[in-house]
Amino acid sequence: MSRLKNKVAVITGGNSGIGFGIAEAFKNEGTKGVIVGRNQVTLDRAVAQLGDNFIGINADVTNVADLERLFKQTTEKFGKIDVIVANAGGGAVGTVATTSEAEFDQAIDLNLKSVYFTVQKALPYMNDGGSIILIGSNAAHRAYANFTLYGAAKAAVIYLAKAFSSDLLDRKIRANVITPGTTDTPAFDKFVPIEQMEAVKKHFADQMPIGRIGQPSDIGKTAVFLASDDSSFMLGAELLVDGGMTYLS
Ligand code: NDP
Repeated sequence: MSRLKNKVAVITGGNSGIGFGIAEAFKNEGTKGVIVGRNQVTLDRAVAQLGDNFIGINADVTNVADLERLFKQTTEKFGKIDVIVANAGGGAVGTVATTSEAEFDQAIDLNLKSVYFTVQKALPYMNDGGSIILIGSNAAHRAYANFTLYGAAKAAVIYLAKAFSSDLLDRKIRANVITPGTTDTPAFDKFVPIEQMEAVKKHFADQMPIGRIGQPSDIGKTAVFLASDDSSFMLGAELLVDGGMTYLS
C-alpha cells in the first residue's frame, strides 16, 4: 500500500525496537526519511534493512544542538518534513525513596525534555498540515513498581500531544500519542539476563489479556494511521496499544 507516498518522516530511536517497527511500516507505505540514534552500528544496520529511501543521522535527542542539526540536515537531504515521531526514550527505574537528582535529570531529559525539543526544533522545517506522533507508555496510567519517574514523564507526554495540537492549530499540525503496553524490543536486554529472557517474555505474555506481548509492528501500524489522512480529525488523542494489559488485567 502507499498511504504515505512521498511523505518525509523523522523517527527518533528508529534504529531499534518500536522505532524500527514504525520505520518499517512507514517504508512499506512509501515514506522516505530519517532514523535517528546514537549507536552508529545499529543505525547503519537499520538503514541497510530499510533501503535507499532512508538515511541514518547520529544525534542525541537530549542535546538541543544535536536536534537543530538533525532537522537542518533532514531538510537539506529531503527538502521538507511531513511527519515527526518522537519515539526515543527508555525505562528509567527507581522509586521516590531511591532516585538521585542525577537520575531524575536523566529520566526527564530522555523521556520528556527530548520530546519537547524534538518537536520545537522540527517546527521551522515542518509542512503545515503535518503529523506529530509521540510515543508514551501505558505506564502513565498505572503505578508499576520502580517506574515512578518514567511513568510521570510519559504522563506528561500524553498531555503534550494535546498542548502541541492546541499550540499548532494555526498550522493545522496534528499531534497525537501512542501508548504501548509491554512490547518485544531490545529494551528487555537492559533489564533481563539473557538466560532468563524466554521465561520472562512468557511470563509477560501469560499476564496479557490478549495472550501475547506486543510487537513493534503493532505500534508501526498505529503510527501509519496517525501519520495518514485517515486520522485527519484526530488532535491530541491517545491510542493505547497494550493488548488489554492496563485496564483488563
Ligand atoms: P529500545 O531500547 O529498543 O530503543 C530505544 C531507542 O531510543 C533506540 O533506538 C535508541 O538508540 C534510542 N535512544 C535512546 N536514548 C537516546 C538518545 N539520548 N538520543 C537518541 N536516541 C536515543 O526501546 P523500545 O523500542 O522498547 O522503546 C521505544 C519507545 O517506546 C520508548 O520511548 C519507550 O519508553 C516506549 N515504550 C516501550 C515499551 C516496551 O515494552 N518496549 C512499552 C511502552 C513504551 P541509540 O541507543 O542508538 O541511541
